[in-house]
Amino acid sequence: MKSKELSLLEKYYGYKSFRKGQENIISTILEGNDTLAIMPTGGGKSICYQIPALIFKGLTIVISPLISLMKDQVDSLKDMGIQGEFINSSISGIEENNVIENIKNGKCKILYIAPERLESLNFLNVISECDISQIAIDEAHCISQWGHDFRTSYTKIVGFIKLLKNRPIITAFTATASEEVREDIIKLLNLNNAKVFITGFDRENLFINVIKSGDKKNYLYNYINNNKESSGIIYAATRKEVDKIYEELNYNGFSATKYHAGLSEKDRNKNQEDFIYDKSGIMVATNAFGMGIDKPNIRFVVHYNMPKNIEGYYQEIGRAGRDGDKSECILLFSPQDVQIQKYLIEQSIENFERKNNQYRKLNEMTDFVYTNECYRKYILDYFGENYGHECENCSNCLNEGELVDKTIDAQKVLSCIYRMKNKFGTGMLMDVLRGSKNKKVLQFKFNELSTYGIMKDYSNEELKNFINTLISHRYISVVNGTYPVLGLNQNSMKVLKSQEKVIFKEFKVEKKAKEDNKLYSILKEIRREFSIENGVPPYVIFGDATLKEMSAKYPMNKEDMLNISGVGEIKYKKYGERFESEIKKFVKDNNIELSDKTKKQEEIKMENIHLEVNSDEKLFDRLDSLRNEIAKKENTIPKMIMSKKSLKEISGRYPRTIDQLKDISGVGPKKIELCGEKLIFTVNDYILENHIEVTWINRKKRNVIIDGEHREDNEIAIDMLKEGKKLSEIFEEIEISISTILGYVTDYIKEFGEINFNLNLEDLYNKEEEVQIIDVCEKIGYEKISAIKKQLPSFIKYESIRAVILKKYYLN
Ligand code: ADP
Repeated sequence: MKSKELSLLEKYYGYKSFRKGQENIISTILEGNDTLAIMPTGGGKSICYQIPALIFKGLTIVISPLISLMKDQVDSLKDMGIQGEFINSSISGIEENNVIENIKNGKCKILYIAPERLESLNFLNVISECDISQIAIDEAHCISQWGHDFRTSYTKIVGFIKLLKNRPIITAFTATASEEVREDIIKLLNLNNAKVFITGFDRENLFINVIKSGDKKNYLYNYINNNKESSGIIYAATRKEVDKIYEELNYNGFSATKYHAGLSEKDRNKNQEDFIYDKSGIMVATNAFGMGIDKPNIRFVVHYNMPKNIEGYYQEIGRAGRDGDKSECILLFSPQDVQIQKYLIEQSIENFERKNNQYRKLNEMTDFVYTNECYRKYILDYFGENYGHECENCSNCLNEGELVDKTIDAQKVLSCIYRMKNKFGTGMLMDVLRGSKNKKVLQFKFNELSTYGIMKDYSNEELKNFINTLISHRYISVVNGTYPVLGLNQNSMKVLKSQEKVIFKEFKVEKKAKEDNKLYSILKEIRREFSIENGVPPYVIFGDATLKEMSAKYPMNKEDMLNISGVGEIKYKKYGERFESEIKKFVKDNNIELSDKTKKQEEIKMENIHLEVNSDEKLFDRLDSLRNEIAKKENTIPKMIMSKKSLKEISGRYPRTIDQLKDISGVGPKKIELCGEKLIFTVNDYILENHIEVTWINRKKRNVIIDGEHREDNEIAIDMLKEGKKLSEIFEEIEISISTILGYVTDYIKEFGEINFNLNLEDLYNKEEEVQIIDVCEKIGYEKISAIKKQLPSFIKYESIRAVILKKYYLN
């Protein structure tokens, strides 16, 4: 039988299943536990407190810092048939009295308030008489001094709770995962034996793209030009930069609006509304914009400057793709971004300790930009999650862009810096390289240098970009004084001595972030009409994903409509018929046969099932030998060339072309470049020799199940441990690093408590290493493995760190 929670999810929200974590969080709250849930932005926090609110007898109060969005949140609830209200400074006294009447008469289940309201005696008098079952605190990190958005008004919450006759269940929600903030929330909110949930932080649908070379402006224009139909945010570090980008975009005919703290409240609200109601496709903003933005169909987030910390960055990119559709996050980096952020930290009125903390976070952000490993892995490790593999959905994994050899030009720039004796900044260097006759150049006799005028063929802008790119890739150092001065370093010397080549990627922007179809556009138009009629944002009517599903499945009766994700009963009553009749008309006008419809539905169904593959042992052995050979040549271990799992999949699916090979799970462009041709060659040879007839079937995003193995890697590893296998044996058999296996064990203990298998952890470290690791953990906590690793000498391996942590903190 369906649970009550699931029935409510279907009835009101029209969703057919819970997302990761939601169900557990809801049942824990329903059992009466104080709860802290940490979920990524867009993970679906609201439903976690709204469904218990519907089941509990009394009122749920939601405390949220963003008053500008409360109206939309409450409109959404009302539109679904849920009794919601809000009180904040934007409503009149009469409206407030109406809300209070509704509360007193039991006509309100969920009340949104801003924390400032807790200072109003009038409000407290009324509310303390009510039967309050739950207080849900949204953006709970605002209570912590260590968070990135501390709000004093959040400290009033505890006093308020104490005033109430009966203590309700307290639930807190945030997307900030840091251990210190988490502990602060539990402590400062006085949570009782809080149950803590940390759902996976990964947002699989976001493509993470970091661009360190080329002309930012050019890139941005190309990108938005190619994605005109899509809605997106462009973040810049300062108000001035926001104004500049905004003006240029509008001057060039793009429909952009803007948001920063320098605008009046009225303008900010209007601009935000234009963006939410799809009147302006692009929002250019500082980080003041976005907290609590519920717009689900944001297809791209561009950072025109590097943000000041990873928490902020991940929160901001998290605003893309809440509806689960593919979306792109682009960080356009230039070395000045670091200077801008340092300047902003210096200008802030924070105390010494907080400033130091901010510098530390800025360094971590800069390291992220410079990393060569998978960006997603870097972020998830940062949040203490054990990702353990490469995502194949970030620009480092996909290695996109065309590689261009820039060694000679780099040598020209570097030797000019050398001849100018490492004493000048970018402006003067450019003047000399471009052969300027400016007074200072002549005064220093730089016109007599052999490098004078050797880069005349570069425009001013191009040369500036090129020098910045060299700085971004650490071929030039910037020494800060009153004026930043450029200097040479070890990397520059290698380039000057021709020991190292300078190879940059030149990016092409080709992709569209989203393809639309005709019926989808028609349905969007109806949605817009409803949105105007009812005075609510379009996504409150139906999300993009819901319209897209309709345009693919052609639902033409109530039953089919209710099967679409996002169509609940009340919404069907309000809007269903109009959409239905438009779909019928479209089907008729375009002579769409039922069989087409069934075909489409089949395709959609296919996406939800697995692709079963039986591996071919003999071919696998051949591929495995090939892999060992390549690994030897590349001086690495075989699993780095390709995983056993991918080889097994190849052996069972027989890809005969590079295009088909691309469809194998875990095979990205890097792997294709390294060994694609050899693999294809081996497969074709084998097919010919053995007269195998192959019918190629595309994966179409389906999960691949090989030889009936339905378990995930973590389940396999844990089962093998339970069977008594050693860590080293598991490593051999399924090629997962020991550190990753220990990560799985840690997750397992977190979820199920004790374990009863033997790990022989002591074999993985010596006494001296143990002391050093514990020492660091005591200082910075034991959750963030990569941060701990950084503080230790490099010879101490990840597996030793994980082993010590498991032993000391989990198995003691
Ligand atoms: P958060 O507050 O965690 O950032 P929201 O609660 O605003 O996220 O949810 C993000 C989006 O995901 C919303 O559009 C919401 O309707 C949708 N959503 C939440 N739960 C589900 C679910 N179980 N199935 C489908 N969509 C969901």
